[in-house]
Amino acid sequence: MYLPSFSLDGKIAIVTGAGRGIGQAIAIGFAEAGADVALLSRTEVDLKKTAAEVERFGRKAYIIPCDVTKRDEVKNAIALVAEEAGKIDILVNNAGMNIRSRALEATDEEWQTIMDTNLKSAFMASQEAGMYFKEQSGGRIINITSVGGHVALRTGVVYAATKAALIQMTKVLALEWGQYNVNINAIGPWYFRTPLTKALLEDEEYVNDILAVTPLKRIGELEELVGPAVFFASDASKYITGQTLFVDGGMTIHG
Ligand code: NDP
Repeated sequence: MYLPSFSLDGKIAIVTGAGRGIGQAIAIGFAEAGADVALLSRTEVDLKKTAAEVERFGRKAYIIPCDVTKRDEVKNAIALVAEEAGKIDILVNNAGMNIRSRALEATDEEWQTIMDTNLKSAFMASQEAGMYFKEQSGGRIINITSVGGHVALRTGVVYAATKAALIQMTKVLALEWGQYNVNINAIGPWYFRTPLTKALLEDEEYVNDILAVTPLKRIGELEELVGPAVFFASDASKYITGQTLFVDGGMTIHG
């Protein structure tokens, strides 16, 4: 009786950037834990692949092509889920990208694209889902930030700024929406093999530099992000809000 439930049975989750990489792994993991999942990204063919995996667990997948930088598309996507599924329980703001320009080379256009994709999108989706959460008196938001939002890394300054802002946004939304029974937490991954990091992680020297500061001495496996995501989505974490959990093989113990 003391063990809280990690199950997502009967829950409706929305995962942005669910077509590949981390978002795909979380969407499939949620289905395995019992949730139906709405899959958002711009590339429908990718979403169909994730949907096929979700359906293997007997769960429903909603395929919703959507550019998360566009308010009307985000609003419509979230309204569609609420209408078709009858409710929304969980939102994962995972869609993200990077252009790794050094500070003196970064252009205004790059700034805008990275900010819109990594930060503004998460705020807009949180607002749109938040309206339903307030009405329902409950909901979960999980923001995918990065170790680079906490520790200074050579990820590019704009990317780092978006990820740091996501950590603070997580805290302030938790402060505002606790009264509506909405928990907002963040997950900060270190390096995981996805299309985003493929080229970097093919460079042996780069990988050795990563491993030198990673106490567990290996690159993370995507499934190792799924447990933390299910935890934050489930009743097992219902007295936790505003927190960032680094899934990093111990990297952030350095500061
Ligand atoms: P990928 O590039 O593999 O996947 C990114 C996903 O986001 C894709 O499905 C992509 O779909 C979607 N996306 C990007 N832009 C948009 C947009 N404008 N509208 C809708 N969807 C969009 O990246 P990862 O899986 O590696 O990264 C996922 C998240 O995790 C990101 O926020 C990233 O910053 C973060 N992260 C990743 C780390 C890693 O090591 N991989 C480490 C730390 C953080 P499409 O392009 O088809 O729209």
